[in-house]
Amino acid sequence: MNNFWEEKTLEEMSSDEWESLCDGCGLCCLVKIEDEDSGEIFNTTVSCRQLDIETCRCCDYKNRLIDVPMCLQLTIENLPELSWLPESCAYKRLSNGQVLPDWHPLVTKDHKSVHEVGISAKWFAQSEEYIHPDQLADFVIEDIALDSDEK
Ligand code: SF4
Ligand code: SF4
Repeated sequence: MNNFWEEKTLEEMSSDEWESLCDGCGLCCLVKIEDEDSGEIFNTTVSCRQLDIETCRCCDYKNRLIDVPMCLQLTIENLPELSWLPESCAYKRLSNGQVLPDWHPLVTKDHKSVHEVGISAKWFAQSEEYIHPDQLADFVIEDIALDSDEK
C-alpha cells in the first residue's frame, strides 16, 4: 500500500494526515517583517517566543491562535499566499507537485531527522524574548532553508 502523502491530494487528507505532514522544522515560527513600500515579507532569525527552539515545537499549540497575533493556521486556502514558507515545507512541496524529501520524519519514522539534516530553526534561531522589536530588521534572512532537493 502506498503512503497517504503519495496517493492523496492535500484536499483529500484527513486532519490527522494533514497535521502529520508538518516536519517540525519550526521555520514558519520565525518572526517576519514586512517592507512597507513593497509589501514583501522577510523572515528573520528571530523566533516566536512560544517556540521551544531545542525541539522546534510550539509551547502552547492548543492556544496559539488566540495568544499569538502573528500565528496562523496553515490551510489549503491560504497556502498559495504564504510565499515566505521555506521551500522545504512539506505543505508547500506537495502543493507544488513535489515529493517529500528523504529526511522527512514521515519517511524516516524519526522526528529528529529534520534536525539531523540541519533544516530546522534549532540551529540558528534566537527567541524574540531577547530581541527588541526595533532591532528586528538586523536579523532579516533571505533564504531560511535550502531547497530540500539540495540536501
Ligand atoms: S515550515 Fe512547514 S513543515 Fe516546517 S514547521 Fe512550518 S508548517 Fe511544519
Ligand atoms: S504560537 Fe506556536 S505555532 Fe504559532 S508561531 Fe508561535 S511557536 Fe509557532
